[in-house]
Amino acid sequence: MQRYYCENCEQVTGHKRVIGAGTLIAALLTGGLSLAALPWYPLRCVLCGSTEPWPLSFTYLVMACAFGLLSLLSLLILLSRVW
Ligand SMILES: [Zn+2]
Repeated sequence: MQRYYCENCEQVTGHKRVIGAGTLIAALLTGGLSLAALPWYPLRCVLCGSTEPWPLSFTYLVMACAFGLLSLLSLLILLSRVW
């Protein structure tokens, strides 16, 4: 666990990645491919749960969108070759 300053709690708190149901569903849909994006998951404050810092979660959003589109495309290509 890493320690960063949390603007919500106004103190230095522990931060960690939260892997929730959405992560698991995305992993199932992409056949585990989305798990490769785990290093870019935003760190959340263990006290209030807010993501810190903002630019990181924005980067994560962009990465997640790009990755989702890519895996969807590759899945479509795979399927069109099978059929
Ligand atoms: Zn906090």
